[in-house]
Amino acid sequence: MELLKSKIVQDGKVLSDQVLKVDTFLNHQIDPPLMQAIGEEFAMRFKEEGITKILTLESSGIAPSMMAGLVLGVPVVFARKRKSLTLVDHLYTASVHSFTKGETNEVSVSKDFLKKEDTVLIIDDFLANGQAALGLLDLVEQAEAKVAGVGIVIEKGFQPGGEMIRKQGIRVESLAIIASLENGEVKFVEEAVT
Ligand code: 5GP
Repeated sequence: MELLKSKIVQDGKVLSDQVLKVDTFLNHQIDPPLMQAIGEEFAMRFKEEGITKILTLESSGIAPSMMAGLVLGVPVVFARKRKSLTLVDHLYTASVHSFTKGETNEVSVSKDFLKKEDTVLIIDDFLANGQAALGLLDLVEQAEAKVAGVGIVIEKGFQPGGEMIRKQGIRVESLAIIASLENGEVKFVEEAVT
């Protein structure tokens, strides 16, 4: 997605060979017109899949998911990283090791919001080692719902998550795939891998 790639080049900060900071438009401050375009792109790519629900992870997955949910006309559920005090049981729970924070979180979603009848599109901001996506896939599996695919805003193609999930036969659509962050420079994989 060209608009996203130019935004990454313009505003992204390469923190190391492994980590890209995009807090001017996605991870802290949010750019609504860009999120809208991202939502439309996800909706276009997955419109034939009969999606009934979008599942994401708080907090950075919420903005792009909301926009996709608006276009697809389906609810958005975000898995929580901390258990709500009002919701102690009745949860699907999975462990997710965070690549950027170096810690493991339990993520959970109420059984009320993921059902066997659902066809779920998983959306997240980044795909690196694939732990967040695996955790979300685990929640969908526990609910015995169907997975339509995984939509990612920025995939770091040099880390193993994308390949691992595609190898499981799951459709992964990434709107920008980064080939390398070496020497402080963002290089993209030119063709989107599906
Ligand atoms: P994974 O679970 O695939 O290893 O990592 C995905 C999660 O880690 C995303 O939800 C995202 O929050 C965070 N993440 C991974 N790599 C980066 C990165 O380079 N930049 C930012 N801002 N977040 C990242």
